[in-house]
Amino acid sequence: VSRVIPVDTFDLVIFGGTGDLARRKILPGLFRRFAAGQMPEAAQVIGAARSDMDVTEYRSMIRDALKEFSDKAEQGDDVIDGFLEHIDYAQVDAQGDDGWDALREKLRDGVVRAFYFSVAPFLFGDIAERLKTRGLSDDQSRIVVEKPFGRDLETARSLNRTLATFFDEGQIYRIDHYLGKETVQNLMAVRFGNILFEPLWNSQFIDHVQITVAETVGVGGRGSYYDKSGAMRDMVQNHLMQLLCLIAMEPPARFEPDAVRDEKLKVIRALEPVAPNEVVRGQYEGAEGENYVDHAEDPRSTTESFVAMKVQVANWRWQGTPFYLRTGKKLRSRVSEIVVRFREPPHSIFGKDAGGRANELAIRLQPDEGMDLRVTIKEPGPGGMRLVDVPLDMTFAEALGPDAEEVPDAYERLIMDVIRGNQTLFMRGDEVEAAWAWTDPIIANWEEAKVRPAKYDSGTSGPEASLELLHRDGRRWRDIR
Ligand code: NAD
Repeated sequence: VSRVIPVDTFDLVIFGGTGDLARRKILPGLFRRFAAGQMPEAAQVIGAARSDMDVTEYRSMIRDALKEFSDKAEQGDDVIDGFLEHIDYAQVDAQGDDGWDALREKLRDGVVRAFYFSVAPFLFGDIAERLKTRGLSDDQSRIVVEKPFGRDLETARSLNRTLATFFDEGQIYRIDHYLGKETVQNLMAVRFGNILFEPLWNSQFIDHVQITVAETVGVGGRGSYYDKSGAMRDMVQNHLMQLLCLIAMEPPARFEPDAVRDEKLKVIRALEPVAPNEVVRGQYEGAEGENYVDHAEDPRSTTESFVAMKVQVANWRWQGTPFYLRTGKKLRSRVSEIVVRFREPPHSIFGKDAGGRANELAIRLQPDEGMDLRVTIKEPGPGGMRLVDVPLDMTFAEALGPDAEEVPDAYERLIMDVIRGNQTLFMRGDEVEAAWAWTDPIIANWEEAKVRPAKYDSGTSGPEASLELLHRDGRRWRDIR
């Protein structure tokens, strides 16, 4: 019995359909939905880009992309052929007049219509305007906007204003692919679907929270782009903030888009400004030619490839429970996880030498998605009352067995949500602005005070100062392995 929930027939236009993101994530994601039987028979996916090519050439480009980037490509050429029948191509100039009429001709009435902006952000406004003024969109159409959404409050506001000229907020889907991860939604199920957690979910019982997004890759070929951004803009303002919101938010009354997003917004607005000594900036160093600055345009660049910070959510629930965030490139291992560290039991009846540590809930987004809760039990055997910690595994793949539907990747899930018209896992304009309003002063302070990033060696867990940030509170980061 298939558990795949059908979606309505759609026309999906991918602007930037020949680009890296489309070939690596969006089209392989759609292909997985096709292979899972979720793509409606009459669905149409139209790549739109500047290149002069016909549909045969585009399909062959996508075939190559699937072979390279899709784990489903071994399903064979028949399946790929079936998928490619859904694919069309339109040559369009986002900033000019060419191609728009031909693209409009391809669109059908009476089906869901979505436009994915997988192009550089400076083109978002041009495309939105042309969709509207050239009659490609109507008030039911949806647009999907990739990151980065602005580079500070001012640019985000201006982008929001531009999009709002042509589309209602209910039509705008701002992607943060972290929100598309199975475990992120599982986090909400665990928090709000059980009675066990929510009564403990506050500063009385939670000592602190750690959110880590560690990458092993460096900036590589994206150096000149990344150098204008840095870890704060590229990761903290969006992905880490979104994760923080889901951990810290009050229970929404319903699992509905605006109910959830209202609660997330309240968290961002409750964040205390971060004091300069509670944020650490880092930049990696490596072997000859492998330093961060070797890939930046400016060899004296002070852009950070690492950030660690202590964040306080100033409300009743969280007073006294810090949230420690860190993210960086060229770290020891690729790990994205949230660790909720509970307080020690108030008194140990077994004596302080018996063992056992505080409970810990670990939510892993990468590499293998899953959740476990560390609990203390008696060490088995005759050795008296010795305590040990064991993980209580809540990983769905094992618990639900071989019949469980394969976990969709973030992009495919989010695209299907766009088709369904469900905005719950997309950022609302006011959330994005509030997040910038909080990160802007931190960045401004670095610039004014000319704060130079602390150097750290590639393959470590970041600068010494990041460890110190927790040590001085009597805490430590969970190891990234
Ligand atoms: P890319 O440079 O690989 O592709 C750009 C695409 O835009 C190409 O298809 C190109 O033909 C098209 N294009 C450029 N100018 C155009 C014009 N005037 N008219 C029509 N089409 C035009 O870029 P990418 O890496 O695929 O990134 C696309 C967007 O996604 C960017 O906003 C980027 O920040 C974002 N993003 C990318 C990644 C990633 O992993 N690549 C991850 C997250 C977000």
